[in-house]
Amino acid sequence: MQGNVLVAGLGLIGGSIALAIKRAHSDATIIGYDVSDESMRLARSLGVIDEAVPSFAHGACEADVIVLAVPVVQTEQLLRELAHLPLRSHVIVTDVGSTKERIVEQALPLLEKGVAFIGGHPMAGSHKSGVVAARAHLFENAFYILTPTEHVKEEDVIRLKHWLEGTKAHFVMLTPREHDRIAGVISHFPHIIAASLVHQAQQYEREDELVSRLAAGGFRDITRIASSNPEMWRDIFIHNKEELLQLFDRWIEEMKKIRTYVADGDSERIYHYFHEAKQFRDGLP
Ligand code: NAD
Repeated sequence: MQGNVLVAGLGLIGGSIALAIKRAHSDATIIGYDVSDESMRLARSLGVIDEAVPSFAHGACEADVIVLAVPVVQTEQLLRELAHLPLRSHVIVTDVGSTKERIVEQALPLLEKGVAFIGGHPMAGSHKSGVVAARAHLFENAFYILTPTEHVKEEDVIRLKHWLEGTKAHFVMLTPREHDRIAGVISHFPHIIAASLVHQAQQYEREDELVSRLAAGGFRDITRIASSNPEMWRDIFIHNKEELLQLFDRWIEEMKKIRTYVADGDSERIYHYFHEAKQFRDGLP
């Protein structure tokens, strides 16, 4: 499909989306914008974008599709900026942020102006960041959540899916709230657990430096995501606060329960705790 695609935020996700769009739509012009000149220079030299623009507004006004691929707090700012710009009448705006409710709320002025904003979250990624890590195949077979509101026409959702078909992802429609609840359980909260396990090991290491030397296998598997970008995770925890507070409460209850089994030496309950978890985990598609 011909047209100008503006990708704002040329990091892991923005770069990967740019490559995936180009893969399916070689006629399209991929325009890149990033606050970092170095990221724009790299994106250009790696062939991730066709051209760079000097400002977000400059690229936005010329775009047929705008993909906001910046950290979620910055996404809110860019949405506010878009609401005041003379955009093309048929433009589709989407984002890739890991939270949806606050972002869709910030898009309301834009939606009320008749601009098609469709929230998005490609559920694949990596603990790496930056355009150097971008790959066209990053989203292959992953779920790609879209959260169109009632303001958005079905034909615009179809058009966006067509633009994104090079991701080879499976699109799933959710409400922003449903998205934030599910992402909270399976993505956001596990990051806190991983980070807290690392903090615990770090505290023990002060007593015995063998801790980090012996930390292998399971510990490395379960804490891999603790190496993710702290700025990104800070912003996600600010955005999805209400869901996450509930998850903290439920997790604390869960820990108290299993702690009691261990304190009581209740081998049957401990066995069942692990057995049920194994059955559910083994049954995941
Ligand atoms: P990243 O750090 O690799 O890239 C972010 C880029 O945005 C950087 O190049 C940065 O310079 C740029 N940027 C920051 N503020 C900007 C602004 N105001 N204008 C223009 N550019 C700006 O991060 P990422 O992993 O690509 O994450 C981007 C978004 O994707 C986040 O909203 C995140 O929630 C979402 N996401 C991340 C993952 C993941 O696993 N990394 C997965 C799915 C969705």
